[in-house]
Amino acid sequence: MSDLTALPVTALQAALASGEASAVEVTRAHLDRIATEDGDLGAYLHVDADAALQRAGEIDAAGTAGTGLAGIPVALKDVFVTEGVPTTSGSRILEGWRPPYSATVARRLRDAGTVLLGKTNMDEFAMGSSTENSAYQVTRNPWARDRIPGGSSGGSSAAVAGRLAPFALGTDTGGSIRQPAAVTGLVGHKPTYGSVSRYGLIAFSSSLDQAGPMARTVMDAALLHEAIGGHDPCDSTSIDAPVPAVVEAARRGAGGDLSGLRVGVVRELGGEGAREGYDAGVIERVAEAVALLEAAGAEVREVSCPAFDLALPAYYLIAPSEASSNLARFEGMRFGIRVGDDGSRDIDEVMALTREQGFGPEVKRRIILGTYALSAGYYDAYYGQAQKVRTLVSRDFSAAFDGVDVLVSPTSPTVAWPIGARVDDPLAMYAADLCTLPASLAGVPAISVPCGLSEGLPVGLQVMAPALADDRCYRVAAAVEAALGAPLTDRLLERAA
Ligand code: GLN
Repeated sequence: MSDLTALPVTALQAALASGEASAVEVTRAHLDRIATEDGDLGAYLHVDADAALQRAGEIDAAGTAGTGLAGIPVALKDVFVTEGVPTTSGSRILEGWRPPYSATVARRLRDAGTVLLGKTNMDEFAMGSSTENSAYQVTRNPWARDRIPGGSSGGSSAAVAGRLAPFALGTDTGGSIRQPAAVTGLVGHKPTYGSVSRYGLIAFSSSLDQAGPMARTVMDAALLHEAIGGHDPCDSTSIDAPVPAVVEAARRGAGGDLSGLRVGVVRELGGEGAREGYDAGVIERVAEAVALLEAAGAEVREVSCPAFDLALPAYYLIAPSEASSNLARFEGMRFGIRVGDDGSRDIDEVMALTREQGFGPEVKRRIILGTYALSAGYYDAYYGQAQKVRTLVSRDFSAAFDGVDVLVSPTSPTVAWPIGARVDDPLAMYAADLCTLPASLAGVPAISVPCGLSEGLPVGLQVMAPALADDRCYRVAAAVEAALGAPLTDRLLERAA
């Protein structure tokens, strides 16, 4: 049997179903690769090889391997709580914490028979675009190991692109699935807000956070999406609607026929006259992808969404505001570390010391910013204004979707940058989110699909659709993938050969 870590999930399913490979063999192949590669890549924060092999053995013994996702290994971003398995959200403040329950998406994947390989590295509390804000380790991009893997789900992107997992879950608040997918040559989808449960996802910005799949092919992402999606009574913002038919859409899109589909190219996101901060190579690859859509029969036109220019400042008020509230629960009393509790200090001093030592600089920056934006006297000027901008962004989407079925843009204005290049410049780091933030603020679905290389590094095309029309994202992404002939990550395999 060929190298099991080189196969897409669809091929692994077939190998398991035919008995060509067992769940234990598939799991062991990935664990072996983790053992040889992850010392350098730094994708995982926690791997429990024995538990994974035991679980795979159970699936083999039950005879279900190859049915749906049974027997397929998966990695989870460390933002998902997992019963009995260390969960840190990339923060020192949660070091050593083993949650007493599992996130709904983690439970659904377990019930589907997947095998948890481990928990992946991330920017602390999902704040960042390079995974360099992790309190634990640097994660490297498998395409160029001196480059960032994107963030905040950079451990998941590095693991999947590096074949240390067949696919993985990430979370996306302002781009943290799509941008790391784009810069590592993966497919990454942020589902419609509320369509995938947030129960057990350690909250960053609750009105924006959304879990979603990261995979090497569109179909693999769709399979993972289908397994985690759907209503959850444990999440008060969960939408009670059927999961969009994403697997069917991926299959249909692979046929390559997009006739009748109306595509809008967003002028404000790298279009004519809005190219400052964009790599020329990114603009070129995206233009070529748009030409492929046209060749597949889509009707393409330019669309203007003027409020998108304000999405970045609005997001960087709303997300820190919600974070300042959500992170109040980390005070050393209930979870994780406690600092200075030696009998000589009162509770306020212990809480202050714990937060001082438990949080990193970016998290502190956001708590301070968010607390300020919400404070009496400034609330209307900052938080209130940002919410109004959010409404304008949603209205731009509604108006655009009156005339087109999907909107497209680059996912990230640039390719992966060198590790360290932006760590001292928060605004440069925030600029990485330019194209992903509008869909986050409006809660609409958006996918990133690879559309080629620039300077030898992956470029992603973003496809956005109206709420609950996630299937359109998959259909268009699959058509792009089919037109390009093979998953982009196959080129990494060729390089290694
Ligand atoms: N880069 C953005 C931020 O730092 C988005 C992060 C995310 O989506 N979790 O907030």
